[in-house]
Amino acid sequence: MNAELRQHAARYVELLRRHGKKEAWLPTGLARRLPSASTSATPAPLSSPTTRTTKSEPPSALRSAPPIPSPKPKNDFDLNSILKDVSGSKADKLAALRKKTDVCKICAHLAKSRTQVVFGVGDPEAKLMFVGEAPGAEEDKQGEPFVGLAGKLLTKMITAMELTREQVYIANVLKCRPDMPANTSGNRKPTRTEMDTCLPYLRAQVAIIAPTVIVALGSTAVEGLFGPQKTTISRLRGTWMELDGVPVRPTFHPSYLLHNQDLALKRLVWTDLMAAMEKLSLPISEKQRGYFLKPTA
Ligand code: SF4
Repeated sequence: MNAELRQHAARYVELLRRHGKKEAWLPTGLARRLPSASTSATPAPLSSPTTRTTKSEPPSALRSAPPIPSPKPKNDFDLNSILKDVSGSKADKLAALRKKTDVCKICAHLAKSRTQVVFGVGDPEAKLMFVGEAPGAEEDKQGEPFVGLAGKLLTKMITAMELTREQVYIANVLKCRPDMPANTSGNRKPTRTEMDTCLPYLRAQVAIIAPTVIVALGSTAVEGLFGPQKTTISRLRGTWMELDGVPVRPTFHPSYLLHNQDLALKRLVWTDLMAAMEKLSLPISEKQRGYFLKPTA
């Protein structure tokens, strides 16, 4: 088998992996000869049409595919340098930071595909911050995080806390929409590299706003903030984590709630939001305490 064909196949697998695909279809012969992590002594086999793996268990060649080349962070791209020339009130600092992100092209592929950078929205003085993973198609179009269906549900959650969107701050770990292959709709999960690259901007937002509590929405946001976790979001929720000294409450992503209209699940998320309210010393009425509890017979 010619080396050029193997190279093409390796690039194809990498492209799939980058776009969040967990499965690849290759002829068995080619799959066996595909170089895995280019340095691996034992090439890992890809699934062939007769050995397709399940969604929860990605084929080993995908798991061991070489990491996506980092868009090399500029030497001066760290939290301190981002913050060094932003001054004034919190609003001034956020505006200065926004100017930087608006022209950011560190991830060349995302800078090319985005409609605009989705910086974040809300009160610069907010005590409560919500952090998601990345903008989707609608957010990319409107330039605001959480404006699609999941965003509407988030707004309802905020209203249930007797707050408004304008009183909190909402942002994503990744500021640009993860690119999709041409003529493809939908959204993909951001890669670790993409989130790691953009995280200093989110940390700069946190440093400026200095919220009392952050609510991290979904497992990808948690991974973006803290790196890969050894456990699931189901186990992480209900606990406290910490980012730069700020308590972080992980909970399920609103889109997960949209797909699982289970009362018990809503109650779990509401319990996390009540924990955040307690940290904020917000009053919680008896009515609020009873939200999403099973009606007693
Ligand atoms: S995702 Fe973040 S780091 Fe990458 S280009 Fe967009 S703003 Fe810059």
